[in-house]
Amino acid sequence: MRDILPPDSARWRRFVGVFAGVVEAAGYGQIMPPLLEDLGVFTRIGEATDVVTKEMYDFVDKGGRHIALRPEVTASTCRAFVQHRPPTPWKTWYTGSNFRYEKPQRGRYRQFDQVGVEVLGADDPYLDVEVIALGWEFYRALGLSRVTLLLNSLGEPDDRARYVEALRTYFTAHLGELTEESRVTLAKNPLRVLDSKRPADAPVLAGAPRIAQYYGDAAAEHFATVQAGLASLGIPFTIDSGLVRGLDYYRRTTFEFQGATLDSAQNALGGGGRYDGLVEALGGPPTPGVGFALGLDRTLLACDDEGVFPAPDPSVTVFVVDTTGGAEALRITADLRAAGITADRAFDNRSMKSQMKAADRSGADLAVIVGANEADAGTVVVRPLRAAVVEGQSGQTTIARSDLLTYLRNTNT
Ligand code: AMP
Repeated sequence: MRDILPPDSARWRRFVGVFAGVVEAAGYGQIMPPLLEDLGVFTRIGEATDVVTKEMYDFVDKGGRHIALRPEVTASTCRAFVQHRPPTPWKTWYTGSNFRYEKPQRGRYRQFDQVGVEVLGADDPYLDVEVIALGWEFYRALGLSRVTLLLNSLGEPDDRARYVEALRTYFTAHLGELTEESRVTLAKNPLRVLDSKRPADAPVLAGAPRIAQYYGDAAAEHFATVQAGLASLGIPFTIDSGLVRGLDYYRRTTFEFQGATLDSAQNALGGGGRYDGLVEALGGPPTPGVGFALGLDRTLLACDDEGVFPAPDPSVTVFVVDTTGGAEALRITADLRAAGITADRAFDNRSMKSQMKAADRSGADLAVIVGANEADAGTVVVRPLRAAVVEGQSGQTTIARSDLLTYLRNTNT
């Protein structure tokens, strides 16, 4: 778990702001579920996923309840839906931290942030397209251009069940060629064996049956409409029949956004899909759902790699230097801030030299300087800190204290 310090923290906030802008323009409202849920909210979503069985931070609270820090937000959203029964389609977005006891490495942390959307109560394949397109648009809004979209369909539950049986038969016949880890996974969920990134499993995986052979008419039609919709929006995608995603609850459409530069185990920037059974599993009425989660940490690493979406410049516009004790700086910064001009100052009544150093370090455009003479005369000195000083001029001006705001406005500050 890491501390996110300035200026990175400002970049995070802006990242969420850009995401909110994209999804709120499409009618999504923010859901803010708690970080803690009853353990059962998560165990019901997937008995065979590492996220649930191995990686959860769970504990018994003082009231004897077995609870967990959320490892993701989809289950919480479905739990909230069951509890509040909002009108459908319920179009939500979220941001916040999740917790998974994983092996930390670049792009993989035990506390990590996601942004995401979930829509509950609509079955329409054009909704899948809308959701994917929002993710795509968001990456564009960040300036990322090397993200690729992988797409798959896991079929309807019946299709998926037949496929899982076919996989079980196939992998069982090739048991000796699978790694020990994959044999353990096979016993729990044959589909997840396809998730293996271990090179030793690759030859067996390459020969495995493909889900497309098992689609019934409904799943095939849904998938075809999703593909046509994406094509009509000009969003390029690659069909990846091995894309099953880590969580068990996906049905029909699944997708993943991949970055170009992180290690292959961490190159999934985000992903999602349909999870038509999840609300029901949490005790609600049969309700289709679709959504995605995008990792904030990893997406920012991808931004670094592509040289886009830098941390915002944290500098203030004006730095006030006051060698009369500090009360002048107090009033001037208050006036400037009230007028919408960002301003900082030095503290502890330091020397002129030390305060000017602080002014330079602050990155401000201008220093507003008050010494004893200025205080007596009711004036201030305005000195440019960054702009090139015009030849023959000192670059600084003395003006009446009462003209300061007007002066700064006229100089476009
Ligand atoms: P998931 O909820 O597993 O489908 O993950 C969705 C996205 O969240 C991934 O593509 C990552 O970008 C991000 N993510 C998942 N787990 C981690 C983690 N441990 N550290 C950082 N990002 C993560």
